[in-house]
Amino acid sequence: MRKLVILGTGFAMATKCFNTCFFLELEDGSLFLTDAGGGNGILRQLEVTNFDYNKCHHMFVTHGHTDHVLGVVWIIRKVADLMNKGKYDGKFHIYCHDVVKDMLEKMSAMTLKKKDFARVGTDIILQEVKDGESIELPQFKLTSFDIMSTKAKQFGYELKFADGLKFTCLGDEP
Ligand SMILES: [Zn+2]
Repeated sequence: MRKLVILGTGFAMATKCFNTCFFLELEDGSLFLTDAGGGNGILRQLEVTNFDYNKCHHMFVTHGHTDHVLGVVWIIRKVADLMNKGKYDGKFHIYCHDVVKDMLEKMSAMTLKKKDFARVGTDIILQEVKDGESIELPQFKLTSFDIMSTKAKQFGYELKFADGLKFTCLGDEP
């Protein structure tokens, strides 16, 4: 059964709930994360859902606003730490557009411990996606697209599963 787990539904300045982000649990048990909120509260949100990092090898980041991208630095730190402890197998892919990729590279370089940052680019892959580009993953085909936001450059995506089911993320614009 495919399951959608909402980690937060709040706007940027929310204090009584977490910022908008979620993950999908697929039939093979793998997890696909989208955005990560604005800080290390993401670690708690994932903990209360019994999130198994080892089952998550792909995530998508829609745009570079604080409430979506800062938590990604914590995800990178967490996954890098697990890798360094021999508790994470394989690579972790973060799909995002060029602006977000640049932000994540810079923020990780500036804030992470050297041995954690060493994983970025080798085992933690910041993978740039272009408007309209498709990527074939074992569980689905991911097609990213520019939602034409007038604020920050923002990409959504469509996941197409082998059985025809489609799941679309439109980002956070009204
Ligand atoms: Zn936003």
